[in-house]
Amino acid sequence: MPSITLLDTTLRDGEQTPGVSFSLEAKLAIARKLDELGVGIIEAGSAVTSESEARAIKAVSSEGLDARIFSFARIVKGDIDAAVSAGVSGVHLVAPTSDAHIEKKLKISRAQLLERVSGSVSYAKSNGLVVELSAEDGSRTQPDFLESVFRAGLDAGADRLCVCDTVGVLTPERAKPLFEVLSSRFRVPLAVHCHNDLGLAVANSLAAVRGGAREVHCTVNGLGERTGNAPLEEVAVSLSKHYGYETGLALSLLTSASDLVSTLSGVSVSLNKPIVGRHAFVHTAGIHIDGMLKDSSTYEALTPELVGARREFALSKHVGIAAVRDRLSQLGFSVPEEALPDIVVRIKRLGDSGKLITDADLLAISETSLAQNLARPIEILGVRAVSSRDSLSEANVSVRINGRLVEASARGVGPLDAAMAALQDALKGIEDTSSIRLVYYDVKSVTGGTNALVDTRIDITDGKETIVSRNIGPDVVQSGVDAMVEGVNRFLLRRRK
Ligand code: MN
Repeated sequence: MPSITLLDTTLRDGEQTPGVSFSLEAKLAIARKLDELGVGIIEAGSAVTSESEARAIKAVSSEGLDARIFSFARIVKGDIDAAVSAGVSGVHLVAPTSDAHIEKKLKISRAQLLERVSGSVSYAKSNGLVVELSAEDGSRTQPDFLESVFRAGLDAGADRLCVCDTVGVLTPERAKPLFEVLSSRFRVPLAVHCHNDLGLAVANSLAAVRGGAREVHCTVNGLGERTGNAPLEEVAVSLSKHYGYETGLALSLLTSASDLVSTLSGVSVSLNKPIVGRHAFVHTAGIHIDGMLKDSSTYEALTPELVGARREFALSKHVGIAAVRDRLSQLGFSVPEEALPDIVVRIKRLGDSGKLITDADLLAISETSLAQNLARPIEILGVRAVSSRDSLSEANVSVRINGRLVEASARGVGPLDAAMAALQDALKGIEDTSSIRLVYYDVKSVTGGTNALVDTRIDITDGKETIVSRNIGPDVVQSGVDAMVEGVNRFLLRRRK
């Protein structure tokens, strides 16, 4: 099977996601990750956009990456000049080709467009750039004219040609023959650039490859304008696992690349997203888990290891003692038989609120259950918090620490922050708690309405171990404080052992 080049445009088309803007440092971090992944071409931005954009592209170009670095450019001399100044090795030169774009956007004739394409390609080539000529809105362009544009570009020296499904109207049935015709006419590598308006971006990209495309444009997590572009992780795994093409990608880095882009873009990945969604390798149903425990191929066509993820079994309120015993022993956590009924009751209680119970939750529940008869080093006596619009919120907490009453008050940004600060102050007296810090805090509404139950999850660490603590309650402040105190108590009880 021939190899397929992936052009990643997370830093250009992906940055056109509403509300996303990458700093220079973020662009560099993503570019390094893409290079580590083994992406062939990185479209790092559009150099003409702004000075800071040009600076970021220049920084990416100067990183000495294996990937070729491209800048987006319109068929405008100034765009190509900006790309040259940014030190890229190539341009993704985009020419609108549909009648709608030529007549309504550019307001020029087809003949004038062909002239501008020739002139721009020649100019970019004379500046030593690799030129990938893209037909913007190519999927809505009359086929004969699309060929004329590509012919004009090739005659002027274009190295690669690309069809953009700019508004996401392509279907797999049209994509394949389109590329069959183009690849019979043109001897340079053909690329496809798909948008996901109908959820067909991956299917169209694959169909184009079946028709002869040798390069696919994509973005990490499918970022991009509107509903985004073809997701890199889905295209890469499909191409290599189901179609047998070589992409040169280190698939095991896909999950970490997804995490990085999600963090730096601020756009979270939906839980059920293929390949990199948090639920992609979580098994819930009893019969599935039963099958998985016997042989993981029963309900997994792809292993999580392939893409650098982890398999998880989620328990629900339907769980029984046997499944809990099994899972705990797999996790290497030994529990006396007589403790299991209480653990199951606690799981069902959490499950009743409709929550997914992961391995981390199971361990937390078990540990809490086992420690329930041990005296807690810290006991909460009261928490009061006042929210204020004009100044910082205030809170005071009273706790009993090893039998001694301690009170503290603090201010914070909102009542929860104030209560946490007061709690931290109260705990100062306990040796061993100074190294404990909060690394993750998440709160979700379990039910609707302002009187909803909230589900708080906190991860705290002492630098060596991390403890996950969850609490479900009606009050966001009390729930947060309870989760925190339970987590710290578990640290202290562990150390006592
Ligand atoms: Mn696009």
